[in-house]
Amino acid sequence: MNIYNTLTRKIEEFKPNDKTEVRIYSCGPTVYNYAHIGNLRAYLFMDTLRRTLKYNGYTLKHVMNITDVGHLVSDADDGEDKMMKAARIEKKDPFEIAEFYMKAFLLDIDKLNIDKPEIIARATEHIEVMEEYVKKIIENGYTYETENTIYFDTSKLDQYGVLSNRKVEDQKAGARVEFDSEKKNISDFAVWIKAPENHIMKWDTFWGKCYPGWHLECSAMGYNYLGEQFDIHTGGIDHIPIHHENEIAQSKGFCGKIPANYWMHVDFLTIDGGKMSKSLNNLYTLQDLAEKGYEPLVYRMFNFTSNYRNKINFTWEAMNSAKTALGRLREGYLKHTEGNEEILQETIKDFEARFLNAVNDDLNMPVAMSIVWEVVKFPQKSKQLQKLLLKFDMVLGFNLANYKEEKQELPEEILELVKQRDDARQNKNWAESDRIRDLLINQGYLVKDTKEGTVLEK
Ligand code: AMP
Ligand code: ZN
Repeated sequence: MNIYNTLTRKIEEFKPNDKTEVRIYSCGPTVYNYAHIGNLRAYLFMDTLRRTLKYNGYTLKHVMNITDVGHLVSDADDGEDKMMKAARIEKKDPFEIAEFYMKAFLLDIDKLNIDKPEIIARATEHIEVMEEYVKKIIENGYTYETENTIYFDTSKLDQYGVLSNRKVEDQKAGARVEFDSEKKNISDFAVWIKAPENHIMKWDTFWGKCYPGWHLECSAMGYNYLGEQFDIHTGGIDHIPIHHENEIAQSKGFCGKIPANYWMHVDFLTIDGGKMSKSLNNLYTLQDLAEKGYEPLVYRMFNFTSNYRNKINFTWEAMNSAKTALGRLREGYLKHTEGNEEILQETIKDFEARFLNAVNDDLNMPVAMSIVWEVVKFPQKSKQLQKLLLKFDMVLGFNLANYKEEKQELPEEILELVKQRDDARQNKNWAESDRIRDLLINQGYLVKDTKEGTVLEK
């Protein structure tokens, strides 16, 4: 496999520390709100990476954190605590907020058929691990204390900014020096913070009632499960300049090493060419897509139109195309399921080789999909090609194997009601069509009228 490594700014051949088991750490969500589709792109990328590694025969030990401890609105140490802010707005306890949105997140990634990391680590369940980690950084002389905060002293490192290739001096020169005056250097960051009286998420620690800095969480949990140096660290491109630099700084302070050999970052989803934001009313969740008639796997398909290292622009037209594409893939799969024609072994081998080449070329999903379309459209119908699509689906994750079953799961009487309703609609008998729709709802089926016809959702 070849992957792009942000650390070296090069495409590199992937060589894991261990020949068979790949160890990965992925920065997970901060659970203070529903995940939007931009966030979910990051986890779809993580999923494609996992699936491709497995396709190549590796077993995985993969950790993803859930940030259920509050941290500040900005990546640097200023702004309001995200979890506290959500708690204030929703008039709930921050622990309740975290529990609720964590569950919602896990449900979302299930709906997208995201292959879950082996270990999902909640920050609040690892406070002691973080305490031990930070104590060693302190012992090693990489920190200084102010009245309420223990800061990491980035000037103690031989180099800060290895990922984004920045120098501390450049930052100083460029910054409008308006940073926390307690800090010795602009790039220093909080690792351990004394909790103010009204701060709810706090723990009894060696320094009194405190809570950990955000960056510390990933360093400590990564080390706890994966050791001092693992293979791959993933996140969004927004993590490069601060969060991941600070993880590297902490790890150097802890054991002198950069924690991962390969750093992979997924670029952003834009909407209609611009930013997603609440104020523009274009911040969509999976639920919003479902309400507009797009099942979660359509969003998965949409993501394969771009490589993870490029921006992807969300439009409803693009979602419509993705919806059609998913339908074609399923139809193609069913078509081959029914086929008995003999395909040359060389043809199958050629498809397999080209697909493997594409996914191993830094997860090039647009090219991988172009090979999938060749198989789908292949003039002969053959179970060999159905098998091939199932094999490719190990990476694609469209759950093709269960597609037929799902179709067959609709009971006869429900299909009959749908037919009666379609007839009523054809005859413009809207009252009858509404009556049948209500009957279907009572039986647990949501009816959607789409361009492609009636769609039922359980
Ligand atoms: P957060 O919960 O805010 O820490 O974000 C979770 C993940 O979503 C991070 O990996 C971010 O890099 C990623 N992310 C946030 N916004 C976008 C976006 N518009 N497109 C893609 N990824 C995003
Ligand atoms: Zn992280």
